[in-house]
Amino acid sequence: MADRFFHNEMPDFVPEATEETAVEDVADSLLKLVSLPYSTLAQRFMRAALDLKETIVMETWVLKGRRVKDFSLYTGALGTAFLLLKSFQVTQNSNDLKHCSDIVKACDSASRGSGAVTFICGRAGVCALGAVAAKDAGDEQLCNYYITKFKEIKLPKDVPDELLYGRVGFLWACSFLNKHIGEGTIPPSYTSVVVNEIIKNGRRLSKRGSSPLMYEWHGKKYWGAAHGLAGIMHVLMHMQPKPDEVEDVKGTLRYMIKNRYPSGNYPSSEGSESDRLVHWCHGAPGVTLTLAKAAEVFGVEEFLRAAGDGGEVVWSRGLLKRVGICHGVSGNAYTFLSLYRLTGNVEFLYRAKAFACFLLDRANKLISEGQMHGGDHPYSLFEGIGGMAYLFLDMIEPSKARFPAYEL
Ligand SMILES: [Zn+2]
Repeated sequence: MADRFFHNEMPDFVPEATEETAVEDVADSLLKLVSLPYSTLAQRFMRAALDLKETIVMETWVLKGRRVKDFSLYTGALGTAFLLLKSFQVTQNSNDLKHCSDIVKACDSASRGSGAVTFICGRAGVCALGAVAAKDAGDEQLCNYYITKFKEIKLPKDVPDELLYGRVGFLWACSFLNKHIGEGTIPPSYTSVVVNEIIKNGRRLSKRGSSPLMYEWHGKKYWGAAHGLAGIMHVLMHMQPKPDEVEDVKGTLRYMIKNRYPSGNYPSSEGSESDRLVHWCHGAPGVTLTLAKAAEVFGVEEFLRAAGDGGEVVWSRGLLKRVGICHGVSGNAYTFLSLYRLTGNVEFLYRAKAFACFLLDRANKLISEGQMHGGDHPYSLFEGIGGMAYLFLDMIEPSKARFPAYEL
């Protein structure tokens, strides 16, 4: 088990210095970073993020001849576009927005006729991101074009319910449009049919005395954010569920809390006994983001407490030997950012900072020495340094951070 992650040797809390001179005597470069006054550290994150962004644009766009094969946000070109939009929002550099729009345009061509429907892996992501980038650029006509194209997306009958390829991954894109373009851009009449289908499917697989909602993907009853219960419950909470549906969402989360491992971590699928994965996709990090959302939406103490417990698991076992957001240190850092936003507790901010500083200080070296895996798609948003660049941009204003393509 121990070879999946680095033993976390960082102190449980380090208060930040008020002046930069106060940390000059600290010998350890990582400790020095986490001790810096926040404004100084934020500048370091900014510089590192912008350098990474240049590399990512070069590797995934310019050197590919500005052509797109993999259009997905997960491993492909749309992930670079999403990072560029974030960079534009932070720096107001209009070149970033221009590059973002160009990449989305190429993704639009590459994804035409694709049966993939979600935000993270499908055409909904292309059209939704295109509309938001066009709005930011003041191009109303282009924005309307993408919204029209979005509304042409048809969900196949046999589409699964999970986040990466299924119904909630499409619904998330609807919420993203309503948040950034305006409430009602995708009206409830359009989404309620999909929500009803998800609830119906979840109740059908539920067994007496077990979780009120249950789902399957490729024959397995997953629990995590990417393919299972955590991701489905997370999106359902954004969809104004009816009172009986709210009770089922709460019941499902209570079932998960009751049946978590003694360590506090969560099984990747129903009945799994191997307490191994501490990822956003499988395990405590993704579930904790959902519990934090539940604590915010329902105001239930039990969910807040369980979210805190999940944070402890991520702190002790979440310093993974990968950098990305799906199953890497960057994604796990968002657990603490979410808990910080929910509670205002600076200890959570410190933990997010500690994970982000670990990457800032060591990721390059550890990857080049082969001690850390650079990812199967090393420049991508979900598996590679794209996610790390996104995290660094979010660390500049941590109270506004959101796990990319998952938290709204
Ligand atoms: Zn993953």
